[in-house]
Amino acid sequence: MAIERTLSIIKPDATRRNLTGKIVAMFEEAGLRVVASKRIHLTPAQAGQFYAVHKERPFYGELVEQMSAEPVVVQVLEGEGAIAKNREVMGATNPAQADEGTIRKAFALSVGENSVHGSDAPETAKEEIAFFFAGIELVG
Ligand code: ADP
Ligand code: MG
Repeated sequence: MAIERTLSIIKPDATRRNLTGKIVAMFEEAGLRVVASKRIHLTPAQAGQFYAVHKERPFYGELVEQMSAEPVVVQVLEGEGAIAKNREVMGATNPAQADEGTIRKAFALSVGENSVHGSDAPETAKEEIAFFFAGIELVG
């Protein structure tokens, strides 16, 4: 499998509870490498733009509000099959359905406040990385 890069966000529900280090440790233990990282506070407009694909969904307003409520940690993770591997470590969107040993099983509060975001495909990973990082900030 090829070396890939994917975009991860540690969401406000997790940064608020001081879980950043524990979550990053789970990425690293799974063989993913943090090649870019920053802590930022999204405006509602920025969160809305990032999640524009969900604009028509009933939870969009709540999602934008939660994602802009407090700081997030955005990271680029690199590794063999990083996009799928990150989704595996994250666990299912709804923590009630997440497998043991996943981040969402361990930490998510609800389907909305589910602690992490991860890109879902190569095209979205590319777009999402470019949304947050300039090429010069990616240091493998
Ligand atoms: P994922 O983050 O696993 O890729 P989606 O892309 O389907 O999941 O949804 C994006 C985010 O929107 C989820 O991580 C979650 O925060 C929120 N969300 C998804 N479905 C719901 C829902 N039914 N109710 C509330 N929030 C939701
Ligand atoms: Mg998604």
